[in-house]
Amino acid sequence: MISAHHPCRQCGACCIAPSISSLDKPAGIRCPHLTSGHTCSIFGAASRPRVCSSYPPGEECGNSFTEAMEILTRLETLTSPARGEDQ
Ligand code: SF4
Ligand code: SF4
Repeated sequence: MISAHHPCRQCGACCIAPSISSLDKPAGIRCPHLTSGHTCSIFGAASRPRVCSSYPPGEECGNSFTEAMEILTRLETLTSPARGEDQ
Protein backbone atom coordinates (compact mmCIF):
# COMPACT_ATOMS: atom_id res chain seq x y z
CA MET A 1 0.00 0.00 0.00
CA ILE A 2 2.33 2.70 -1.27
CA SER A 3 1.53 6.06 -2.78
CA ALA A 4 3.80 8.90 -3.78
CA HIS A 5 2.35 11.24 -1.19
CA HIS A 6 1.60 8.83 1.62
CA PRO A 7 3.95 5.89 1.77
CA CYS A 8 2.72 3.20 4.12
CA ARG A 9 4.92 2.98 7.22
CA GLN A 10 3.33 -0.36 8.17
CA CYS A 11 2.16 0.92 11.51
CA GLY A 12 -0.80 -1.47 11.53
CA ALA A 13 -3.38 1.11 12.59
CA CYS A 14 -5.64 0.43 9.60
CA CYS A 15 -5.70 -3.25 10.61
CA ILE A 16 -6.82 -2.35 14.13
CA ALA A 17 -9.02 0.77 14.17
CA PRO A 18 -11.68 -0.01 11.53
CA SER A 19 -14.30 -2.72 11.75
CA ILE A 20 -14.12 -5.30 8.96
CA SER A 21 -17.39 -7.15 8.64
CA SER A 22 -16.10 -9.95 6.40
CA LEU A 23 -13.62 -10.86 9.13
CA ASP A 24 -16.08 -10.25 11.96
CA LYS A 25 -13.50 -7.81 13.25
CA PRO A 26 -14.90 -5.12 15.52
CA ALA A 27 -13.47 -1.62 15.47
CA GLY A 28 -10.46 -1.18 17.70
CA ILE A 29 -9.59 -4.88 17.80
CA ARG A 30 -6.41 -6.13 16.20
CA CYS A 31 -7.03 -8.19 13.06
CA PRO A 32 -6.07 -11.82 13.70
CA HIS A 33 -4.09 -11.78 10.45
CA LEU A 34 -1.89 -8.87 11.52
CA THR A 35 1.53 -10.25 12.40
CA SER A 36 3.74 -8.99 15.18
CA GLY A 37 5.81 -7.28 12.48
CA HIS A 38 2.70 -5.45 11.24
CA THR A 39 2.45 -7.35 8.00
CA CYS A 40 -0.61 -9.17 6.71
CA SER A 41 -0.36 -12.95 7.03
CA ILE A 42 -2.93 -13.46 4.25
CA PHE A 43 -1.49 -10.90 1.84
CA GLY A 44 -2.21 -12.10 -1.70
CA ALA A 45 -4.65 -14.78 -0.56
CA ALA A 46 -8.21 -14.95 -1.87
CA SER A 47 -9.44 -14.73 1.71
CA ARG A 48 -7.96 -11.27 2.18
CA PRO A 49 -10.89 -8.84 2.29
CA ARG A 50 -11.34 -6.64 -0.74
CA VAL A 51 -11.36 -3.57 1.46
CA CYS A 52 -7.80 -4.39 2.54
CA SER A 53 -6.52 -4.76 -1.02
CA SER A 54 -8.03 -1.48 -2.08
CA TYR A 55 -7.02 0.56 0.94
CA PRO A 56 -4.60 3.32 -0.05
CA PRO A 57 -2.47 5.21 2.48
CA GLY A 58 -3.76 8.75 2.76
CA GLU A 59 -4.37 11.68 5.05
CA GLU A 60 -5.95 9.33 7.58
CA CYS A 61 -2.56 7.76 8.23
CA GLY A 62 -1.43 10.92 10.01
CA ASN A 63 2.20 11.08 11.08
CA SER A 64 2.27 8.24 13.56
CA PHE A 65 0.48 5.10 14.70
CA THR A 66 -1.25 7.12 17.42
CA GLU A 67 -2.44 9.77 14.99
CA ALA A 68 -3.67 7.13 12.54
CA MET A 69 -5.57 5.35 15.32
CA GLU A 70 -7.23 8.62 16.37
CA ILE A 71 -8.18 9.58 12.81
CA LEU A 72 -9.32 6.13 11.74
CA THR A 73 -11.33 5.65 14.92
CA ARG A 74 -13.07 8.97 14.29
CA LEU A 75 -13.78 7.99 10.67
CA GLU A 76 -15.06 4.61 11.81
CA THR A 77 -17.58 6.32 14.04
CA LEU A 78 -18.75 8.48 11.16
CA THR A 79 -18.90 5.84 8.44
CA SER A 80 -19.31 2.50 10.17
CA PRO A 81 -22.84 1.47 9.05
CA ALA A 82 -22.30 2.13 5.32
CA ARG A 83 -18.79 0.75 5.26
CA GLY A 84 -19.79 -2.44 7.00
CA GLU A 85 -22.11 -3.41 4.17
CA ASP A 86 -19.44 -3.13 1.48
CA GLN A 87 -16.97 -5.80 2.54
S1 SF4 B 1 -2.57 3.34 8.87
FE1 SF4 B 1 -1.58 4.06 6.98
S2 SF4 B 1 0.60 4.00 7.43
FE2 SF4 B 1 -0.41 2.70 8.95
S3 SF4 B 1 -0.38 0.63 8.07
FE3 SF4 B 1 -2.32 1.57 7.46
S4 SF4 B 1 -1.94 2.46 5.42
FE4 SF4 B 1 0.05 2.07 6.39
S1 SF4 C 1 -6.57 -9.04 6.56
FE1 SF4 C 1 -4.49 -8.26 6.50
S2 SF4 C 1 -4.62 -6.18 5.59
FE2 SF4 C 1 -6.69 -6.82 6.23
S3 SF4 C 1 -6.95 -5.97 8.30
FE3 SF4 C 1 -6.18 -8.07 8.52
S4 SF4 C 1 -3.94 -7.89 8.64
FE4 SF4 C 1 -4.75 -5.96 7.82
